[in-house]
Amino acid sequence: MKLTRLQLYGFRNYAALDLPIHPGVNLIVGENAQGKTNLLEAVSYLSTGRSFRTMRQVELIGFGADFADLSCRLFSQGREQSIRAVLFASHRPKQLFIGGVKQKTAAELPGVLTTVLFCPDDLSVLKGGAAPRRKLLDNALCQLRPGYAQALAEYNKLLDSKTRILKDYHEMPSLLDPLPEFNYRLAQVGAILIWHRARYLNSLIKAAADYHHEFSGGREALTASYQTVSTIRDPFAEQKEIFSCLLDHQQSHYKAELESGQCLTGPHKDDFDAKLDGISIKAFGSQGQTRTAAISLKLAERELLRRDTGEEPVLLLDDVLSELDARRQDFVLNQISSGQVFITCCEPERVTNIGQTVTIRGGQLCT
Ligand code: ATP
Ligand code: MG
Repeated sequence: MKLTRLQLYGFRNYAALDLPIHPGVNLIVGENAQGKTNLLEAVSYLSTGRSFRTMRQVELIGFGADFADLSCRLFSQGREQSIRAVLFASHRPKQLFIGGVKQKTAAELPGVLTTVLFCPDDLSVLKGGAAPRRKLLDNALCQLRPGYAQALAEYNKLLDSKTRILKDYHEMPSLLDPLPEFNYRLAQVGAILIWHRARYLNSLIKAAADYHHEFSGGREALTASYQTVSTIRDPFAEQKEIFSCLLDHQQSHYKAELESGQCLTGPHKDDFDAKLDGISIKAFGSQGQTRTAAISLKLAERELLRRDTGEEPVLLLDDVLSELDARRQDFVLNQISSGQVFITCCEPERVTNIGQTVTIRGGQLCT
């Protein structure tokens, strides 16, 4: 899918913008606070019907304006399409249109314009705790496999109930009666999560490794190992086998769970350890290596979405160039030749040879 034109009225600091869009790289250049991220936010809003920065619609409307009107033209699903969103400063609900036809909800939007967003927070996904890495797998799988979202929701609900039991059973021992049933179902649903995560991570890292290889000028090999419940020797085994390994682990941790009052067993503790040339990024990766690997993962996520849906999502890269060395910046600007990309950056000397450079000042195009 390719955007061809973006028009904004009264959106954030854009009183009026009419931007023809390049099918390749669109490099959005400007000093701080000029409207670069606002522009990406507008594209993302037209893709999902919500902002990645705020839940409060009124913040999106230009100061002093009564409404914001965002629209884009694009080529998607084999034809010319258009999306429009009108947001009101009053309590009137927003209006969304696809091809001029008013939509009841935002649920119809994602198939028309799919975007993959990468912002500075995502650069640290490979450092720090495991939660953002699990989220990376879960978010992608929820989009790709409808059954996965259902299983994940059930798992989280069961986990909440089990946590409450383990916390409160001292005061009310009868709470322990349904615990075996909860554990059994947790193992069943947990096996579904592990089965999918192992396969998705495998494909993701294969694709990301190719990007990272190019990114680093062939110097670094990216790999990752999935870390799940220790009794599971082979996460690619059939779900029945994973289920039985999960039950074994639960049994051996039963006493410890009662004593600690915590759920110690299950895929809610899953993680993956990404490595460069066999060395853990989390423990030893430099800033630039960590960022490059994180961008490679994002590019891989986009590729897997494309393989699955047949449409290449538009990539939105906000402020990710600054920490990369010249070669890696050049890769982002000039060698991601597949699909359409928006990249924001502050340095006016940056150029791209496979797209256009757009300079923004105070919510206006500079020519
Ligand atoms: P940086 O390089 O620092 O990330 P940026 O170019 O990405 O900067 P944006 O976040 O796109 O900057 O824009 C920020 C500017 O937009 C701020 O000056 C802010 O005051 C202005 N702004 C945000 N919301 C609104 C609004 N609803 N109406 C008018 N202006 C707004
Ligand atoms: Mg910004």
